[in-house]
Amino acid sequence: MVKNRDGGCMCGAVRFAARNVPDRFGACHCPMCRRWTGSALLGVTIKDGDLDWQGSENIATVQSTDWAERAWCTKCGTNLYFRVTLEGEWSGGTELPIGLFDDPRGMEMSSEIYIDHKPDSFAYAGEGRTTLTRAQCVEKFGVLDSDGNGA
Ligand SMILES: [Zn+2]
Ligand SMILES: [Zn+2]
Repeated sequence: MVKNRDGGCMCGAVRFAARNVPDRFGACHCPMCRRWTGSALLGVTIKDGDLDWQGSENIATVQSTDWAERAWCTKCGTNLYFRVTLEGEWSGGTELPIGLFDDPRGMEMSSEIYIDHKPDSFAYAGEGRTTLTRAQCVEKFGVLDSDGNGA
């Protein structure tokens, strides 16, 4: 089940239209996502070509690791996306926080990664999700965690 969803930042200076949005998303508890979001990144992957931005002059990016960048709105500071910049198996596609959608209902959290880095003070409801520890992520994503920090 995929659908089109619109969304944007807190102040409205940056908007997007996303097509073919999967209804399944993942949580990342890695130390970088934890700091970036203040909790965990709840992100859905949008394929290249399925995402159109408006107000992109208000988007700033930082190369947060050797292999990925993170973006935010320069007017209001809303975190906008995570994207693998290193060419290879994991490149292509943009990880959008589901909280950016105007209507984020009807989606299901299907995985949690870096589960062993999740703060012990909270847990998401529901069960049956795929979970990966940091070690399992390193094994799966290889070079993507060479600095040990996370995804
Ligand atoms: Zn904004
Ligand atoms: Zn992460």
